[in-house]
Amino acid sequence: MSKKKNKKYKKGMAAKNAKKAAANQQSGGFERTSVKKPANEMDFFKLDKMGVKRVSIIPYWTGEGNPNADEGTLHYERSYWIHRNIGANQDSYCCLNRTFKKPCPICDWMKKQKDPQDEMVKSLKPSYRQLFHVVDMKEPEKVMLWDISNFFFGEKLNDEINNQDDDESLDEFCELEGGLVLKLVIAENKFGGRTSYKVSSVNFKPRKEDFDADILDETVCLDDLLIEKTYDELEAIFHQNEDLNEDPDEDEDDADRAAAGDPDEDNEPDDDPDPEPEEDEEPEGEPEPEEDEEPEGEPEPEVGDDDVEIEKGDRVSAEIEGDDYEGVVKDVDGDDVTITFDDGDELSFAPEDLTLIKKAKKSSASKSSAKSSKDKSKKGKSKKGKCPHGGTFGKDLETLDECDKCDVWNECDEEANG
Ligand SMILES: [Zn+2]
Repeated sequence: MSKKKNKKYKKGMAAKNAKKAAANQQSGGFERTSVKKPANEMDFFKLDKMGVKRVSIIPYWTGEGNPNADEGTLHYERSYWIHRNIGANQDSYCCLNRTFKKPCPICDWMKKQKDPQDEMVKSLKPSYRQLFHVVDMKEPEKVMLWDISNFFFGEKLNDEINNQDDDESLDEFCELEGGLVLKLVIAENKFGGRTSYKVSSVNFKPRKEDFDADILDETVCLDDLLIEKTYDELEAIFHQNEDLNEDPDEDEDDADRAAAGDPDEDNEPDDDPDPEPEEDEEPEGEPEPEEDEEPEGEPEPEVGDDDVEIEKGDRVSAEIEGDDYEGVVKDVDGDDVTITFDDGDELSFAPEDLTLIKKAKKSSASKSSAKSSKDKSKKGKSKKGKCPHGGTFGKDLETLDECDKCDVWNECDEEANG
C-alpha cells in the first residue's frame, strides 16, 4: 500500500522528467568521454544556425597543465586534442600525448603503422579543440561553456589577433575592463552529408560596459574538465574494435611506450603551434560535425544542396577592407552577384567572396520576401539616426530583442560608442 502512495500522481511529475530529458539530450552530444560537465551546471554555448552572434570571452584562473598559460594566471581558453571514433561506441577521447604530454596508446599504434596515408591511420590523427567561457551579449549575466574545434573558431580568433594593426589592442578582447565584444559570423559547414556550423569571421567591437570581477566566480577551471584516461584504460577501449592489425611484437611495444614518455621523441610535431588544419587534413580533422553543434534533425530546410548556392533574396555578408557588411542579394548574373547593403549601397561580388547568412525563404516565398524587402527599404530610409524597433538610436544598443538582427546595428553602435 505504501508503494502505491509513493507512486501517487501529481501534476508536473512527468513534465519534470521530460524537461530533464530534453536538457540531457540537448547537451547529450557533449562528450562525456573527453570533457566533464562542469559541477556548476553551466549551460553550453552552441552554434546552431547561420547568422551573427555577439559574445564576450571571459577568462578563468588556470589550473595545471594549460599549454598556453602558467598555473594560477588568468587565461581565456584551454586547448586539448582528441582522438575520434574510438572503441565500440565510437567516442572521442583526449589524446594523452598531445593533451597531457604522456604516452598515448593511440598515437603509439599510429606510429607503428607502415602506411601513414592509410585512411584508418589518418582518421585517428588528434583533432585540436578548445574550451572557452562565453557570454552571449543578449544574456550578459550568464557564463556558458563553449567546446569547439580550433578550426571552427580559435584559428580565426588567432588570425585576427596576429594580424592586428599597430594601433589596435585586440589581444585585450578577454579583459574584464576595456574588453571587446566579438562579432561572430556563423556559416554552415557541410561534410559527409551532415551540417554543422562554424565561425566564418571574427570582428571586434568595444564593449559598452565592463564586467564586474565577480563574473570570475561563475567560471570553472577548464583545465580540470578534461578527462584523462590511463594508458591501459584507453588502450583497452581502443582495442574494442578488433579489426585493427595488432603488431605481434610485444617487446617493441614496451620499448615504444618507454620512449613515448619523453614527448620530444613522439611523432607529433610538438612545436607546431597549430597542429591541426593543414589544408589537406581539414576534412579528416572534422570527420563529423562537432558533437555539440550537431543540428537537431534537418537544421535549416531551406538549404538543400551540398553546394550552397547564393540566390536572389539571400542574406549575405561581404568583407570590404576588413569589415563585414551585411545585405541582401538583389540579383545573380552568372558569377556576378549584386548585393543591396543595409545602408542602401549596391555592389557586385563573386559568389566565393560572400558569406551566406540566411537563405531567402522558399515557401510562401513571394509574399514574405516582398514584405521583408519592403521592410528593409523602410529600415534603410529610417536608418540614419533612427531605431527601427522603437528604441533610441545610438542609445538602446543591445537592449532590445531585435538588436540581434537589426539592420542598423553597426550605425547604432558607432553612434553609441563613437
Ligand atoms: Zn594520442
